[in-house]
Amino acid sequence: MHARPRTLRRAGRAVRALVLAMTVAGSASTAPSSIAAPSGAPSDATAPSASGGAAASTAARAQPVVIAHRGASGYLPEHTLVAKSYAHALGADYLEQDVVLTKDEVPVVFHDLELEAVTDVEQVYPDRRRADGHWYVIDFSYAELQRLSVHERVQPGTGAPACAGRFHERGLPLRIPSLADELAQVRGLNAAAGRDAGVYVEVKSPAWHRAQGKDPSAIVLRTLAEFGYRDRTDRAYVQCFDFDELVQMRTELKTELKLVQLIGENAWAESSTDYERLRTREGLREVARHADGIGPWILHVVTWPNGGGAPAFTDLVRDAHAAGLVVHPYTLRVDQLPPNAPDVDAVHRALFDRAGVDGLFTDFPDRTLRALGR
Ligand code: CA
Repeated sequence: MHARPRTLRRAGRAVRALVLAMTVAGSASTAPSSIAAPSGAPSDATAPSASGGAAASTAARAQPVVIAHRGASGYLPEHTLVAKSYAHALGADYLEQDVVLTKDEVPVVFHDLELEAVTDVEQVYPDRRRADGHWYVIDFSYAELQRLSVHERVQPGTGAPACAGRFHERGLPLRIPSLADELAQVRGLNAAAGRDAGVYVEVKSPAWHRAQGKDPSAIVLRTLAEFGYRDRTDRAYVQCFDFDELVQMRTELKTELKLVQLIGENAWAESSTDYERLRTREGLREVARHADGIGPWILHVVTWPNGGGAPAFTDLVRDAHAAGLVVHPYTLRVDQLPPNAPDVDAVHRALFDRAGVDGLFTDFPDRTLRALGR
């Protein structure tokens, strides 16, 4: 399961060179400019819209989009600017940003509410943990966070890598970027490379943020607008696990950006949303009133019930398409395949060729692009 293919080792060497070349990750927050993000011909331009209602036929559907999950996180520490640069260089269509707020309300690109799984916060700020034993992003100013070094994800308690065989280097100047830093980098890379990678922003735990006195969605949407991401023709998606929050973004905050309802398992307690219900036809129709797509777990689409045997498909993709929603499942990991899946090619074939998904979150954008013949 954790074997390290030759391509991974090659990529590892390239990545180390890239990190040495790019020690700019710790630079100060970049001021947004009024220059609009470049817009090109999005490969998902024909994706059905919620307002359109009718599902596009398979023939009319656009080429699936490849979404670099937390950047090229299979090769570099997640959500660092180098991981995003590498994903851009590999050719990903979208770069994903998870966003949480700092104490001084700077939106930063970071997956967890707590800092310890991917930073050296225990060493840098030993006295800043809460009574529950965690160090929270929201308890630190943006300037304070810049003293932390980001490393590969480790398991709480043991400190063992969450995915063995990935990027092990420690102590590099890999910083937590602000959302503005990252959007500026995407704009710069798009201009320099002559391509148009999009952004795919997740508002993390909005209800939790509000309980701490902060409103992340308004800040995220404002930051996106400052970089020219304003409506559904722009190369941007906004995603959230919280159903009520997406409704609020559409109705009260009045965003015209493409919205994606993430779908988890109720047992994960990601939000108070009932994901069982959202996966029904009625639930999907309700999602389609304000959103453009869903981001389900891969196992909500396909499973391999018998070791190494044939895949078993749910009706989720068909039902979502019937409701006018695109489907972008998460997360393809070459080194952590779905249970019993025979190999990564089988997973790609099942999702793209059989289930007909419209995109895929992947830690390994190069592998997913190759599976699509790109
Ligand atoms: Ca995410």
